[in-house]
Amino acid sequence: MGRTAVTSGAGIHVETGGRKIVLDPKSPVRSGLAFVSHAHVDHVHVASKGEKVIASVETRDLAKARGFDLGETVEEAEGIELLDSGHILGSRAIRIDDEVFYTGDASGRPRAFLGKCRTRQARIMVTETTYGSPEYEFPQTAKLVREVNSLISGSYDRGRPVVLMGYPLGKAQLLAYLFPSWEPLFYHQKVAEMNKVHLVHGIGLKQANLFDPDKDSDSLPKGPWVMVAPMSNGRGRLMAHLRKRYGAVLVAFSGWAMRPGYSASVGADYSFPLSDHCDYPELVKLVQSVSPETIFTTHGFDKEFASDLRRMGFDARPLSPYQSSISEFAMPG
Ligand SMILES: [Zn+2]
Repeated sequence: MGRTAVTSGAGIHVETGGRKIVLDPKSPVRSGLAFVSHAHVDHVHVASKGEKVIASVETRDLAKARGFDLGETVEEAEGIELLDSGHILGSRAIRIDDEVFYTGDASGRPRAFLGKCRTRQARIMVTETTYGSPEYEFPQTAKLVREVNSLISGSYDRGRPVVLMGYPLGKAQLLAYLFPSWEPLFYHQKVAEMNKVHLVHGIGLKQANLFDPDKDSDSLPKGPWVMVAPMSNGRGRLMAHLRKRYGAVLVAFSGWAMRPGYSASVGADYSFPLSDHCDYPELVKLVQSVSPETIFTTHGFDKEFASDLRRMGFDARPLSPYQSSISEFAMPG
């Protein structure tokens, strides 16, 4: 086996077995392969003509709907295995030979139409660590769904509408899927655009009324309704208007809702930690199931989680974007 190098800079660069793969590149990849794990904007780029891009068809379609043309993508290449990472529709982890396993963004539990991150053993693991700190232990999804339904029910009793706010790709479709029974139901236009791609790929989201914020802000019904809307600050123009004119209750969904004071910080009335990432115990399990010799951490609590892994006996370090020296990360094969 040759040497494998993992470096960071405008994406994560992997050189192994004599080839180059850039994981979630920020710009077109001139030589070698590009891998796009999922269609969130910090993970996609506009591909150049002839660029070889590995991505799921769902990721290709979602990226295109958001203005990022990945060109002709493939789901298979020699020595490459894609695995569902459970984060959003189409999200994938990648294993390169038996050598490198990269999670992309990964969830540690099934939710609605999404599974949890599947894994394979590899010698080197690159994992996201967004919530890699012990205070992030998310509640069971079923419990959270019960609490939200009871909150909506109470609001309906008082004649007040409820706005469920989440990231427009991923979280918003989960919300649409988990809370379909409230009538009338509205989808904010930005959510509806992403719903469309889900429907094409067979995700059974309920049909509902379209809400165009430029046209419909003053023509929503009086009395209770539910709207699935993009996450935005409750003090912003649209949300402040919905609150003032209709008495809307604003509910935010994010893993960061574990933090005290989160609701107030985003101007929401309530918030719930419904996350599309692994919580801390799930991250530890994810690492154990890959059973790597070396782990590189990225995003969020990368330094803290790497240090916890070292205490557990793993060789782990953050893949810092400021670290550009290949030799620093060159692993003997
Ligand atoms: Zn993501």
